[in-house]
Amino acid sequence: MNDPMRRAAAILLLVLGGAALWWAGSGAPASASANDAMVATMAAARERAAANDPRLKGASRFEEGGWIYVHLEGEPGAMGYQHGYLLAPEIEDGFAAVSAGMMHSTRRDWEFFRKAAHEMLWPKIDAEYQQELQGIVEGLRARTGSNLDVDDIVAFNAFEELPDYYVPWLNKRQMAANAPNLKSPGNCSAFVAAGSWTKDGQIVMAHNNWTSYRNGERWRIVFDIAPKNGYRMLMDGFPGVIASDDDFGINSDGLMVTETTITQFEGWDPNGKAEFVRARKALQYAGSIDEYTKIMLDGNNGGYANDWLLGDRKTGEIAQLELGLKAYKLWRTKDGVLSGSNWARDPKVLKVDAPEFDPGNKESSPNARRARWDELLKENKGKIDVALAQKMLGDHTDSVEKKEDTNERTLCGHVDGSARGVKEWAWQAYYPGGAVQGKATDATMAKDMRFMARMGHPCGGDFLAKPFLAAHPEFAWEEPYLRDMKAGPWTEFRSGQSPKE
Ligand SMILES: [Zn+2]
Repeated sequence: MNDPMRRAAAILLLVLGGAALWWAGSGAPASASANDAMVATMAAARERAAANDPRLKGASRFEEGGWIYVHLEGEPGAMGYQHGYLLAPEIEDGFAAVSAGMMHSTRRDWEFFRKAAHEMLWPKIDAEYQQELQGIVEGLRARTGSNLDVDDIVAFNAFEELPDYYVPWLNKRQMAANAPNLKSPGNCSAFVAAGSWTKDGQIVMAHNNWTSYRNGERWRIVFDIAPKNGYRMLMDGFPGVIASDDDFGINSDGLMVTETTITQFEGWDPNGKAEFVRARKALQYAGSIDEYTKIMLDGNNGGYANDWLLGDRKTGEIAQLELGLKAYKLWRTKDGVLSGSNWARDPKVLKVDAPEFDPGNKESSPNARRARWDELLKENKGKIDVALAQKMLGDHTDSVEKKEDTNERTLCGHVDGSARGVKEWAWQAYYPGGAVQGKATDATMAKDMRFMARMGHPCGGDFLAKPFLAAHPEFAWEEPYLRDMKAGPWTEFRSGQSPKE
């Protein structure tokens, strides 16, 4: 087309567009429903096209026991597409709940997190994970027409590290007046045992995830990942996030991985590599405790600093990697038990990376649970197996009061039942958070890539949102996101599983 013709065509389009708008605007219910019908037809056509995408080949999804199991395979971009497509409704829902929490606690807008993702995190993400994250966006958009882009998804993947590690560090540097009281989270109760501690002498590993119920009730994905490069992985996880993130996973070369966070950790390296990337990479590529340690240390940014509990079923060895930013320490043994409940123990890590933490305060959640783990594990020395581990994850003994209770000091945490809250994590009284799910496995199960998992409180108790919010209006801001969290049954999952007939 020449210029005048192009102009004429553009004007014609404008006129037609205006007429269409006038027609729609003037419309009675009939035209509104015609519009709805058109939108629905377009959405159906988009979904059909997305479902026929060749990148979905081999991927699958089913639900069991309150969990959503997804199988992803192939090239990084294809695995991302499968992830985004198969979990699209859950990603949109999870993103809304998580991003609301990030903005609420930090008093920063979403643009702030997008910028941090784009400028600070993205350039240091390995190419294969950049492709996978981009693939998630493509699969999600193809399925639902979502507006989320890769900066949103990267910021969302960093939901454990940006608000509670990066922002406090930044507030301190900027000497922000009236900065909110942000504390690194205390996620989880866990242990790994081997040798004379377990029933069969082989490794047993168990973990329950502590987080807000708002996030935790969405932490219900079992990812079975068969990547083109690296080892096959089976892990629990969050929709839209490429690492397990709470963390519990096994790989096909025999590595067994879990962790609990370091309470009152402080520090961040803006030049480091995001924790969610290192954690995913370590599960995918490490075949030994040494390799795992090396990958986690490479580009350590201090984000989501954890005490990693590891097992290598090939050697029967277990280990604890206390990964601070300025210091770290690795313990390893073939005969022992290593437990975690959000406390660091190396004097140097405590001094330089978690200086505010008081290991002597027996009444705090981390230390009370530490005492309970010591007692419970010692009592059961030589008897520990997966069935017993499941029971332990639902334990309700308060080691301070020496009685059964449901509060912030029990291994199965119910902070909504505690007037004390957990001040070390800035969880106020009756904070709706605690143990949101549990997992357990042993060396034999890990060899066939299997684990047991229970959604909801590992004790089987239910959390009900409506009566909670009625009793605690101070948490009304969570109302759009907070739902019932009913416990499911202990359920076995394995690599390559198909849905039950
Ligand atoms: Zn419980």
